[in-house]
Amino acid sequence: MQLAAALARLGTETAFEVLARATELARAGRRVINLGIGQPDFPTPENVVEAAVRAARDGHHGYTPAQGILPLREAVARDLLRRHGVEVDPDRVVIVPGGKVTMAFAILMFGEPGAEILYPDPGFPIYRSLIEYTGATPVPIRLHEEKGFAFDAGEVLALLGPRTRLVILNSPANPTGGVVPRAELARFVAGLEAFPHVAVLSDEIYSRILYDGEPHVSLLSFPEIRDRLILLDGWSKTYAMTGWRIGYGVWPASLVPHAVRLAVNVHSCVNAVTQWAALEALEGPQEAVARMVAEFDRRRRRMVELLAGLPGFRCVVPKGAFYAFPAITGTGRSARALQDELLESVAVATVAGTSFGIHGEGYLRFSYAASLEAIEEAMDRIRRHLERTLP
Ligand code: PLP
Repeated sequence: MQLAAALARLGTETAFEVLARATELARAGRRVINLGIGQPDFPTPENVVEAAVRAARDGHHGYTPAQGILPLREAVARDLLRRHGVEVDPDRVVIVPGGKVTMAFAILMFGEPGAEILYPDPGFPIYRSLIEYTGATPVPIRLHEEKGFAFDAGEVLALLGPRTRLVILNSPANPTGGVVPRAELARFVAGLEAFPHVAVLSDEIYSRILYDGEPHVSLLSFPEIRDRLILLDGWSKTYAMTGWRIGYGVWPASLVPHAVRLAVNVHSCVNAVTQWAALEALEGPQEAVARMVAEFDRRRRRMVELLAGLPGFRCVVPKGAFYAFPAITGTGRSARALQDELLESVAVATVAGTSFGIHGEGYLRFSYAASLEAIEEAMDRIRRHLERTLP
């Protein structure tokens, strides 16, 4: 067989490899604590599950329009108005099977040899993977621990040039929990005026998972860039629906036909039952979201406190998402070596910072989508292991 060369450039998410090894160890009888996984450990709210069952009984078993059912697109528009105070035409909303698909479509639309696409590093690994797949040049936006892993608008603007097609931003961020303040976003948007050919993909999949009372600032609330902004959001993290496979993009009107055409070519439409469930998630009671975020917050505080007390560790307080990203340089280990060591020696799964880009060296990602008891036991195992093995 002769495969397309681009396949060799496709990367992956190491988190799935860590999960596979953790499952293997668990099968062999080890009591594995998984802090590697990026999904809520709560069930999907009952009203959402019920809506899906109802939809299946009501006969929603066929194809839907490729763009998504209109009632759901209207509900997304109402949700965006409630949360960001922005009127969005439901015809600019494209429902897709997961947040990842908006990301893939945006990168496929702009990426080709000769083009440059900027992406956060450390950041979600699929950005770079897909940029490379298209043959475009990936240009990392380095995120700094000293800035709480929020990007520096000046640094991003300095990377823009005639070949830049797309800038990918992610706040609140995976893997760092970093949140970009409004002032920094405003500086970025103002600077973009000099680069009218550059589009922006704003990955706001963690927009509802924020702490310390900070309201989320969406790039959608900057009218100056609305005609070149692609907003990525969805249900996976907010409503504990990672396995349902649904998300959405809000696209500039001129790009909607391209997004819909890609959908028709790739997946036809999102599972009909899931779309009705997602509608209930947006329009039904929101208490489950508030409860989940409050619980994440409790765990976040405890985890950061325990991480900061580990020998060789240093940890900034994450402001959103459900990850802590401590520096581990004081242990003398590389990120990958410590990830493997913790998994094999004390059965605690984490993900090396280098899985999120070269600037992730010296860091480990800990997910706190695990019970408080599991987090405390994991930290205790790591502390004892480090005390035993550090010089
Ligand atoms: N964007 C970021 C930053 C993520 O962390 C993830 C999932 O981990 C996604 C997008 C993809 O979400 P989905 O599972 O809805 O495809």
